[in-house]
Amino acid sequence: MPFCSVLVTSAVEKTYDYLIPEGLELGVGDYVLVPLGSRAVHGVVWALSEVSDVPSSRVKAVLQKHDLPSMSDMMRHYIEWVARYNLAPMGAVLKMAISVPQALEPSQPMTGYVLGKKSIDLNPAQAKIVEILSDGLPRRLSEIEKQAEVSSSVVKTLVKHGVVAAIDLFSKAPCSSPDSDFLAVALSSDQRVAADSILSSFDRDGSQTFLLDGITGSGKTEVYFEAIAEIIRSDQQALILMPEIALSNSFIGRFKSRFGVTPALWHSSMTPAQRRLTWRSIVTGQTKVIVGARSALFLPYADLGLIVVDEEHDGAYKQEEILIYHARDMAVVRGALSKIPVVLASATPSLETMQNVLDGRYVHLKLPDRFGGASKPDIQIIDLRLDKPERQHFIAPKLRDEMVATLEKNQQVLLFLNRRGFAPLTLCRTCGHRIECPKCTAWLVEHRRTHHLHCHHCGYSKKLPEVCPSCGEADSLVACGPGVERIAEEVAEYFPDARVLVMASDVLDTHDKLTKALEDIRDSRVDIIIGTQLIAKGHHFPMITCVGIIDADLGLSGGDLRATERSFQLLHQVAGRAGREELSGHVFLQTYNAEQRVMQMLAEDNRDGFMAVEAEERRRAHMPPFARLAALVISGSNEAATREAALAIGRVAPKAEGVRILGPAQAQMYRIRGKYRQRILIQADKNLNIQKMISEWLKGIKRPSSIRVQVDIDPQSFL
Ligand code: ADP
Ligand code: ZN
Repeated sequence: MPFCSVLVTSAVEKTYDYLIPEGLELGVGDYVLVPLGSRAVHGVVWALSEVSDVPSSRVKAVLQKHDLPSMSDMMRHYIEWVARYNLAPMGAVLKMAISVPQALEPSQPMTGYVLGKKSIDLNPAQAKIVEILSDGLPRRLSEIEKQAEVSSSVVKTLVKHGVVAAIDLFSKAPCSSPDSDFLAVALSSDQRVAADSILSSFDRDGSQTFLLDGITGSGKTEVYFEAIAEIIRSDQQALILMPEIALSNSFIGRFKSRFGVTPALWHSSMTPAQRRLTWRSIVTGQTKVIVGARSALFLPYADLGLIVVDEEHDGAYKQEEILIYHARDMAVVRGALSKIPVVLASATPSLETMQNVLDGRYVHLKLPDRFGGASKPDIQIIDLRLDKPERQHFIAPKLRDEMVATLEKNQQVLLFLNRRGFAPLTLCRTCGHRIECPKCTAWLVEHRRTHHLHCHHCGYSKKLPEVCPSCGEADSLVACGPGVERIAEEVAEYFPDARVLVMASDVLDTHDKLTKALEDIRDSRVDIIIGTQLIAKGHHFPMITCVGIIDADLGLSGGDLRATERSFQLLHQVAGRAGREELSGHVFLQTYNAEQRVMQMLAEDNRDGFMAVEAEERRRAHMPPFARLAALVISGSNEAATREAALAIGRVAPKAEGVRILGPAQAQMYRIRGKYRQRILIQADKNLNIQKMISEWLKGIKRPSSIRVQVDIDPQSFL
């Protein structure tokens, strides 16, 4: 067959035809290099054919075939499916699968150094090198330089004399031989039932999605490890998706003690070399277990047998930029197309997932108790209207007393406030001016650490002004409301001797700093931890027995469809940090809305009750999961042109039964990074093909290139 259609890794909607050069054996799924315009781009052969519609004078030839196992039919279908569902260009989805184009080329070996056969009289520097290498392990030049504190020329001299020899080093595929039975774990009977249910689905030809539902500490991880062990035994691959933030050393350590090796990792802070090695080992099937952030879902696994989505309710699974998709939902689809099980794990499942359980689509696996019988924390509401903090303070007397009692017992306190910096708003006492970001519809947040005001949306920052930028009055600016830094100041005032740690992403901005902080907590080198949601996930701190939620109302406002649900999940998760082993935990919710349903249900630990009420409200409002939702975000630098473009789109909106179009209207975040934003919301009956409707709608519309139209299927953010 002389022609092939190739999908390239650019934002293209369709495949292009190429000539197969004489002598090149090509099959569907092969990775190739092809010319596109003046560039050479990577792609995958999508089809072969005898003829092409492209005139023979214009059709170009494939440049090169990469020496790799070809992409499976399933993976190609999956890419088409993801593109269609999210209204994304097919080539852009392929690009997520081939996110490391360098990995298409076989990797070059690195040079390593070992002891050679000869020996000579050694000077002290040389002797040090020989001593280091005497353990027989090969080392790279940079490692020897560092360990022996010598320059590279010393090593090279030894190579010249044959005392040290240079060899080729090939990096080993990560997690290539995990041991399914490295650590024997006896599951509890609830765990056994759950694990067996997943295991039995391996024998069935077809996919099954499970909701593994149990509070933090109930042993969910141990259950899906059991399923992973089985995957390892059958020499297949398993993927564990996690919200990026939860990819912690403690999880990796646990994996290692269970399977004898660390898992392969896939996240945003890998080095290019790690990324390249890991991609290739996944495609060739050498790597068996991968723990990754959402983007790991789109890698072309050689033989994927299981997908676990840990903390399935987490908002981080929704990618909001470039290509908008929901990794949890796309994982379920991948499972269905590959006919493999998908395990969604959570202590606070999303309403969508719960509804799928109720509708019988997902199997519900429940772990009702904390493993080993550790007790659940006791949750109390502090009504801030009655138990008032001091002026300009945020910790209520009751919480303060509890903190004193906890510290006296040498136990730890966690104060939770999901807000970085010192104060979310700076206000002029004289004229009422509020300091806003010049590029976004947002207030600037004061950070005392940097003595600057920062925008949390675009990264803009400026020095805290001495006089009001509006009226010029000196000493008139006041900080309003608390951030974690301000709580730290208050804690220092109340507890001058306590060792305090602030856990926020701007403070612990590297993996090492975060790891050290977590160790400091674990080893009781801190007494009071003040944290944002960075603290909420996946960590296990037995000595934290008192948790204070500074502002339980934060997150409830905003008119967002999922505001209450997310708030419940987050607070529930934070509450779950308290007293996980033999020590019992106490949680205090500070609120101005003590009678609110969320607060009551949190205090009663009534998750299912909360979910039921929430579901009923969504049903009545004809909102997901009982209807479909999509959003169009129209943005541009010119305010009038953006408005005009949005109106033009709105004017030709489809009119169909079961469809409601809301907007265009100014987005709540009307400006981000200097771009004006208009939103249109499409609400449709569940049985309607909303994607088809939107693509037909937008197809006919001409818009200036300065205006951007983004489609967000199943939107999570309504800003
Ligand atoms: P979850 O994932 O639901 O938060 P984990 O799997 O982390 O729960 O379990 C909580 C704690 O209980 C962990 O320290 C874990 O090592 C321990 N654990 C869970 N199951 C077992 C088991 N079958 N045998 C021994 N320890 C277990
Ligand atoms: Zn900004």
